[in-house]
Amino acid sequence: AQRLTRLAELVRDVPDFPEPGVLFRDITPVLADAEALTVVATELAALVGDADLVAGVEARGFLIGSAAAVVAGVGVVPVRKAGKLPRVAASRSYALEYGEATLELPDGVVAPGTRVFVVDDVLATGGTAAATCALLADVGATVTGFGTLVELAALGGRAALADTEVHALLTY
Ligand code: IMP
Repeated sequence: AQRLTRLAELVRDVPDFPEPGVLFRDITPVLADAEALTVVATELAALVGDADLVAGVEARGFLIGSAAAVVAGVGVVPVRKAGKLPRVAASRSYALEYGEATLELPDGVVAPGTRVFVVDDVLATGGTAAATCALLADVGATVTGFGTLVELAALGGRAALADTEVHALLTY
């Protein structure tokens, strides 16, 4: 619990970003702190359990997802925003407050039947995480769970991920 208190102290609240009225939780100071980054990596690695692979969601999910994967002794696959991957296995669009976003999974790295643990930095409405789980289902992978550094509980992400076990190191 004390380890998590240290993380909470390092999360920075930024009012009115990316737009007026939104309170942005900035985890950059957590990543820059050696001790805190180790706590994040080891706590998330413990949740990886018997999964074969970690999926990290662009962009901060890459950072903490790969840190967790190294500690857990598994590989990592990047779930990328549209247009970045040369070969795409699956693509999923989802609604944002204004407009929509698309996430893509690279071709040829997640075999059917692979057990994948999904990592991102923040769970808000759950749209990003749900799209990621759908992408993995599209290629025949099994999602073993979702782990996040921060959960913004009021935004209802858990409900959007009804079929997935959700783990948050910090909840606001
Ligand atoms: P959701 O799809 O609404 O759950 O939003 C989650 C995605 O948006 C994640 O990939 C986060 O990186 C990003 N995000 C949403 N809110 C915040 C925040 O307060 N701080 C940092 N990232 C956020």
